[in-house]
Amino acid sequence: MALEHLNVPPDDHVKVLGGQGWVGLIDHLGSEATIVNAARVSFGKLKKEMDERDVKLLEYLIDNKHTSPLEHMVFTFSIHCPLFVRGQWHRHRTWSYNEISRRYTEIDMEFYTPVELRRQAENNRQASYSDPDFDGSALIREIRAHNEASLKLYEHLLESGVCREQARGVLPQNMMVTFWGTVDLSNLLHFLELRDSDHAQGEIREYATAIKKLIKPYIPNVAAYFARKGQAW
Ligand SMILES: Cc1cc2nc3c(=O)[nH]c(=O)nc-3n(C[C@H](O)[C@H](O)[C@H](O)COP(=O)(O)OP(=O)(O)OC[C@H]3O[C@@H](n4cnc5c(N)ncnc54)[C@H](O)[C@@H]3O)c2cc1C
Repeated sequence: MALEHLNVPPDDHVKVLGGQGWVGLIDHLGSEATIVNAARVSFGKLKKEMDERDVKLLEYLIDNKHTSPLEHMVFTFSIHCPLFVRGQWHRHRTWSYNEISRRYTEIDMEFYTPVELRRQAENNRQASYSDPDFDGSALIREIRAHNEASLKLYEHLLESGVCREQARGVLPQNMMVTFWGTVDLSNLLHFLELRDSDHAQGEIREYATAIKKLIKPYIPNVAAYFARKGQAW
């Protein structure tokens, strides 16, 4: 079997960060019918198609935080993002992660250069805003030069015989990494609530929005439920 490189997005993916990042759906387990079947498992009945009563049950489960039936539906994503986004993502402990190791390979090294620079909000350290009068183009060029200089130093260290595990310390937070993340639907909905939010950093929010697009065809009634509650789906 031919080996494909992990840095290539899967067929079903959404690009983010001006095309520099992406999130793709690798695999999934179960359906909305699996969720209602899990909720009714004590009756020993199994259904393959959803009907009106099942949709009502699904909504009841979400409304009442009866989350365990939702854990029977699972998604695996491949995520290509800057290190600083990965840092925020990996705080979500209910996901399982695996990532390319820079102790093994230096191929396909890539760095994120923002397309637009936002200003720091004055009254909230965790917030930023777009300012149409702020021309960041010269600063963006400086960021690109800094990324390139970091890569040069990294390569110089390797050529001088320094081991990969120490040399990687000079690589910036803008370095792109690729990892797989697997999560059940209940914890994914929690992630989406926190990360597709005004409180979340714009960059990780783009990934959360992209995930909604990827999973919506698999959970149409769940998506419709949240849309009715006023969430963007
Ligand atoms: C806008 C925003 C700003 C943030 N700012 C900061 C910051 O400044 N500094 C910082 O350190 N972090 C920050 N975080 C990270 C935040 O504190 C959480 O670590 C992160 O959002 C993961 O949330 P979670 O623990 O609910 O998710 P998960 O780890 O996926 O857990 C899901 C749920 O499982 C349960 N759970 C999981 N593990 C445990 C456990 N060990 N014990 C008990 N219950 C558990 C909890 O109910 C939890 O809500 C920020 C997050 C957001 C969204």
